[in-house]
Amino acid sequence: MENGRCSLERLLDPLRHLTGVQCESLGSFRSGPQKYSLPRFTLRGPNSSDPIRIGVFAAIHGDEPAGALAAATFLTEAAQAPEFIENFLLHIYPVCNPTGFEDNTRHSRRGKDLNREFWKSSTEPEIEILEQELRTRHFNGIIQLHADDTSDGLYGFVRGHTLTENLLRPALAEAGKILPRNVNATIDGFAARDGIIYSGYEGILAAPMQSEPPFEIVLETPHHAPMELQVRALVVAVRTILSEYRRLISFAANI
Ligand SMILES: [Zn+2]
Repeated sequence: MENGRCSLERLLDPLRHLTGVQCESLGSFRSGPQKYSLPRFTLRGPNSSDPIRIGVFAAIHGDEPAGALAAATFLTEAAQAPEFIENFLLHIYPVCNPTGFEDNTRHSRRGKDLNREFWKSSTEPEIEILEQELRTRHFNGIIQLHADDTSDGLYGFVRGHTLTENLLRPALAEAGKILPRNVNATIDGFAARDGIIYSGYEGILAAPMQSEPPFEIVLETPHHAPMELQVRALVVAVRTILSEYRRLISFAANI
């Protein structure tokens, strides 16, 4: 961060040079004289001819840089040691709100909370780009990375596939070794159990209706915790979700 602003290039540039990682700039939109797009990084693990397709989305709230850093760290580690993403095809969107990320604001520069705009015929360019991705990528799993400045601990939201809570529970247990978990009965106004919330806000980034719903997890770190611990906790949580998912579906396939 410099002068209260976050540099997109400082975050994204090293990722473009990772072995095996494909980078694409999705769409194009203007904010004043500046042009923006949404960066997407794709990485295929070994043995992924019929891959498990995962989308990781971060920094849709521009003032939550831990998620963007965690997405970048996770991608870097996966590129360097691809065996832990065996069978997976990863699509990583480290900065879903580039103008808000630069300005260090929750909302986009056009004043929108982008994470309340999905599947409402929004004409915000970021939403049109992300909805197109959600419609066409047929994700088996969607993970969103967030930070909450009203929480003292880690927690998450689950929806979609019924096994989703069985992915979040071990992820919170592992990440809970790095930062405390929020075990309150109410978190962010929702009923919670052991850091898991089974409902959520309208209009958040989510899969469209599809015949086989993906698992959908929103991870939240305590915003006031040290940044490197938030990043580490998110990376560990994402890694745990993937290995648990692979384990559960291969178990199911063997029944
Ligand atoms: Zn957020």
